[in-house]
Amino acid sequence: IKDLHKSYQMGSNSLHVLKGINFSVEAGELVAIMGSSGSGKSTLLNILGMLDEANEGSYVLDGVPIKNLNETKAAQYRNKFLGFVFQSFNLINYKTAAENVALPLYYQRMPRKERQEKAIKYLEQVGLKDWATHLPSELSGGQKQRVAIARAMAAEPKVLLADEPTGALDSKTSYEVMDLIQKINDAGNTILVVTHEPDIADMCKRIVHLKDGVIVEDKKVKQV
Ligand code: ADP
Ligand code: MG
Repeated sequence: IKDLHKSYQMGSNSLHVLKGINFSVEAGELVAIMGSSGSGKSTLLNILGMLDEANEGSYVLDGVPIKNLNETKAAQYRNKFLGFVFQSFNLINYKTAAENVALPLYYQRMPRKERQEKAIKYLEQVGLKDWATHLPSELSGGQKQRVAIARAMAAEPKVLLADEPTGALDSKTSYEVMDLIQKINDAGNTILVVTHEPDIADMCKRIVHLKDGVIVEDKKVKQV
């Protein structure tokens, strides 16, 4: 990311949210993007996730400049590189845990049997194999987020982007979800976690601190 700027236009008013962001993430990193509410964390993550575009500056993902891509190309890169996890889980209520995990694979046109097997495999990795046939309404918040993580991982992305993944969870459950994120990172995935909670950021390997649209600190976390 180089000299990245983003403004939101609202009528004749413009809100300058990202004011020259520079940073780069290497494969295998576990990075927290920290900052108080309104500091531009989600805006930055959405640009990294190719869900939104910057007004100025450059973004290169795996050697590919991400600029003026048509929607088909953007979707291709998103599917190939990126997995998403959100604060509110975004599971489909009338589908079981396994069906939720398998859904993105359906859109990748993976055959039914293969995607069912994959869904079970990834549910097992997040410790929820026995919950495969349960609906989201039968799961706790932490379990729902683990299903959402399994869904993101089942597509085998290189980079996992998580926007406040523990924002709707109590502390104990938050730490369990972060343990899982650390485990996935240990297996080699690059992960960026947006959070406003210092204790969650401390469970990452690096903290990028955003304030009012600029990076005010970028530091390695001491491993305990
Ligand atoms: P954070 O995730 O750190 O809380 P955001 O990136 O969501 O911050 O928002 C940064 C600022 O941009 C806030 O003032 C927010 O109101 C504003 N903002 C975010 N998205 C939009 C949008 N789509 N249109 C207009 N303003 C927005
Ligand atoms: Mg946000």
